[in-house]
Amino acid sequence: TGSTAAITLADLPLRPELVGQEPYGAPQLDVPVCLNVNENPYGPSETVRAEIGRAAAEAATTMNRYPDREATALRTALAGYLNRGGYELTANHVWAANGSNEVMVHLLQAFAGPDRVVMAFTPTYSMYPEYARDTHSRYVAVPRRADFTIDVDEAIAQVRLERPDVIIICSPNNPTGTTTGLEDIRRICEATEGIVVADEAYQEFVRDGVPSALDLLPTCPNLVVSRTMSKAFAFAGGRLGYLAAAPAIVDACRIVRLPYHLSAVTQAVARVALEHADELLARVDDLRRERDALVTWLGEQGLQTAQTDANFVLFGRFADRHALWSGLLERGVLIREVGPEGWLRVSAGTPEEMAAFRTALLEVLPDAA
Ligand code: PMP
Repeated sequence: TGSTAAITLADLPLRPELVGQEPYGAPQLDVPVCLNVNENPYGPSETVRAEIGRAAAEAATTMNRYPDREATALRTALAGYLNRGGYELTANHVWAANGSNEVMVHLLQAFAGPDRVVMAFTPTYSMYPEYARDTHSRYVAVPRRADFTIDVDEAIAQVRLERPDVIIICSPNNPTGTTTGLEDIRRICEATEGIVVADEAYQEFVRDGVPSALDLLPTCPNLVVSRTMSKAFAFAGGRLGYLAAAPAIVDACRIVRLPYHLSAVTQAVARVALEHADELLARVDDLRRERDALVTWLGEQGLQTAQTDANFVLFGRFADRHALWSGLLERGVLIREVGPEGWLRVSAGTPEEMAAFRTALLEVLPDAA
């Protein structure tokens, strides 16, 4: 009974674990300075924009047909991009989906699920428990040390206890920026019969000399390295995430993916972006410098920062972080209220955006002390 207009979520036969839950997401507000979701502040050049348009128009001519289900040309191009690091990956080692969010869901659909366990090291990316919930898996959070590094002995003890089917190591970790060393990742791979995912969404932003877990792929058959074009490639709107792993792991993802999950337009424009990798990645060094300068400046203001290898900085600590966040927002600067109590996260932006952030923060800091 009752009208369609009056029906609410509470009236629906929703799965019990979804009752009372809210859709995930940072507020999408229309403010001058957006430093809240770790985007790349630099849009594509006119040349790249024009080529993206041409590729989309070309894809439109065959829009009555389904796209390449295997996205082979795109996966070949992604392997080519990774191989710039000296690897020998082929399309068979690479899987792609609509953002690394979907890549991760494919992994959990294939390797987690009812009666299975997903483990991650908190504080970490807040979508991990949601992927677990949405795949009916149990989520086990193992706390990091006070400096946000992973205590690997403790991690291995928890692995023996909980027997996780999937272990996610976010490195550089969102929201702290912390990296996990390759020897530590290897030890965790060797301690489990499950799948270990190194989420390297921010890998392109690491400081000089910090290696990628891709180095471990030849010797760790249960390792998956997840990447995204959203951050370093300035391609968040294009929605393209990918992973590199043993071909058998890619085959597992191919079983659970929905057919034709990557649209013809997505495949075409992502290939254009990869052809222009040099241009799109050119600003990464600028952003790393902005990030390092920001860490220094926050320290000079007497604030604490977490050591970061990503395009963002976790800083604090504030008795009332929400007041500080709101004060910045009133001044047109949107950052993220995320991470452990008392901390806030700010993304590295353009020099102008960073200046606006510093000005606004200096205005609100006295009230937050
Ligand atoms: N992993 C981490 C650690 C992230 O921070 C993000 C984006 N915030 C993602 C994955 C997902 O990114 P996307 O789906 O845009 O590839």
